[in-house]
Amino acid sequence: MSQHGFNDDVYLDQAISHHLSELLNNGEILESTVAGICRQVIGKGRSTLSDKQEFIFKIKVEKEFLQRECQNCGHQLTIDELGIDESGEPNDTCFSCQHDRRKRR
Ligand SMILES: [Zn+2]
Repeated sequence: MSQHGFNDDVYLDQAISHHLSELLNNGEILESTVAGICRQVIGKGRSTLSDKQEFIFKIKVEKEFLQRECQNCGHQLTIDELGIDESGEPNDTCFSCQHDRRKRR
């Protein structure tokens, strides 16, 4: 796997945009300023944010929604693991713990 190739960035941007839309649709991001910044990231890309917007995005979105730790094992969740689960809540466990949990049910 390449370290930080162009395609990885595009993939990551798309994955983040997808997750941000999920959060917006799910009503997780209610503050209108923050929601507006998320819509801009989805529509035009994060690089179009002003310094101030980027700062707000980092604190209010990235820290809270994109850098979550697995509630079970404490590993940081990847963008693929972040998402809205079947019960409509943002996901808080990694794939491996989800897998274990499903087996136990
Ligand atoms: Zn885990």
